[in-house]
Amino acid sequence: MQHSDILSRFGLTSSTGAGLTARSPVDGSTLATVAETDAALVPDIVANAARAFEAWRSVPAPRRGELVRLLGEELRAAKEDLGRLVSLEAGKIYQEGLGEVQEMIDICDFAVGLSRQLYGLTIASERPGHAMRETWHPMGPCLVISAFNFPVAVWSWNAALALVCGDPVIWKPSEKTPLTAAACQVIFERAAARFGDAPANLSQVVQGSRAVGEALVAHPGLPLVSATGSTRMGREVAKSVADRFGRTILELGGNNAMIVAPSADLDMALRAILFSAVGTCGQRCTTLRRLIVHKDVAGKLLPRLKSAYASVAIGNPLDDGILMGPLVDADAFKAMQSALEKAKAEGGSVTGGARTLTDRFADAFYVTPAIVEMPGQTEVVRHETFAPILYVMTYETLDEAIALQNAVPQGLSSCIFSTDLRETERFLSASGSDCGIANVNIGPSGAEIGGAFGGEKDTGGGRESGSDAWKAYMRRQTATVNYSSALPLAQGIKFDV
Ligand code: NAD
Repeated sequence: MQHSDILSRFGLTSSTGAGLTARSPVDGSTLATVAETDAALVPDIVANAARAFEAWRSVPAPRRGELVRLLGEELRAAKEDLGRLVSLEAGKIYQEGLGEVQEMIDICDFAVGLSRQLYGLTIASERPGHAMRETWHPMGPCLVISAFNFPVAVWSWNAALALVCGDPVIWKPSEKTPLTAAACQVIFERAAARFGDAPANLSQVVQGSRAVGEALVAHPGLPLVSATGSTRMGREVAKSVADRFGRTILELGGNNAMIVAPSADLDMALRAILFSAVGTCGQRCTTLRRLIVHKDVAGKLLPRLKSAYASVAIGNPLDDGILMGPLVDADAFKAMQSALEKAKAEGGSVTGGARTLTDRFADAFYVTPAIVEMPGQTEVVRHETFAPILYVMTYETLDEAIALQNAVPQGLSSCIFSTDLRETERFLSASGSDCGIANVNIGPSGAEIGGAFGGEKDTGGGRESGSDAWKAYMRRQTATVNYSSALPLAQGIKFDV
């Protein structure tokens, strides 16, 4: 299928104006030029969202859920087209593109149920004839900033919850993936048209780079900013939003580890390592980056891992049978090479990591995945390099393994492969993994919609998606009602009127 055919499925053309160039990591070709939003328009965009909020906050939550149900239906209908566009614009394999759209459908289903379960509390009052309750109200327009590597799912994790919670959404997608964002807006508009009476501007897309992002982040009319991307970006966004006492949900970098214990099922561990380290060409926030193997099993596991790495099918992510597509661009390739050089200088022994397929794709950046055996957790290992580099270290005691796993600035995802209950429970205990996600006998990458997603430390501390993550999109109100004919004051205060 031609690029232009996929765009036409969403009514998009290869030029909507000047500003951003949508480039395909698959072959380096230009897919389209997309009009960049002028930062001077930010006050108008926020005012539009404020008007939408005034209407939407009073629509009953289950009715708001109906819009999200229709969004899920439209996503089901567009799944293959959108999955293909994700693959083309972000470079992940088609199956992962489809998987990403499925996550969008799943969060819509979750949010529809949630729209009837935005429960508050009733609280026993200490005063006679009084009742106390806690209610959750819509918060206001929600700004979503997203990264290139999950160009559509991150928007939906936020938008589906925000919409049922009564909040309009303004989305600033990555400047590397403007087309998938434009396609999602078209899908949203299809759902809104079927819904009938949704207020205008319930969902707006602001296309552009950091500058327009900064203008949005600083605007006091956006009480909630949900930002996904690098720790550098999160640090800047957090300061700007804190300065105006706004609320943030920060989903930032990860440096995820797997501990392989002596009792581990090595066949299972091998499969988990391979997919979580090379999937999406190492460009997932939950990618496996550090393998901490017990010294007694390293000799068995590593040769098998190296031979599995040598057989990874690398190529055009839209072709059948491919496991690993390209890096997103030349900068990502440079960052990978510089990390590998640094690892060597810090005593690492590197297998793989070279550029490949240059004869077929001279303007794209395909690489072989790298395994780097390290003498210890040096500086380069503590840093998130967004590429398929797996650092391998060995350990002798579980205490040592957990300490290594936790001794990095990031705290997103982690896992242990072990069949020893004492070890696995210790890993999940208060003195175990310090990450937001801790798995047993499952790799660290990916997540299910039903659980809260996010991590600690430099990962930002935010939670999205399932469990009670919805509470971040609403404001909590404590109300006391006096149904007596007296007015008892707190702390025994007495006075005459
Ligand atoms: P990035 O930080 O370069 O960009 C992310 C987004 O932030 C883009 O839309 C960008 O325009 C915007 N941005 C950058 N600086 C900004 C600023 N000062 N103010 C406002 N907006 C700003 O990240 P990337 O390269 O697109 O994505 C890779 C990173 O994202 C990795 O670190 C990865 O771990 C992280 N990530 C985290 C999660 C998670 O859920 N924890 C999910 C996906 C990606």
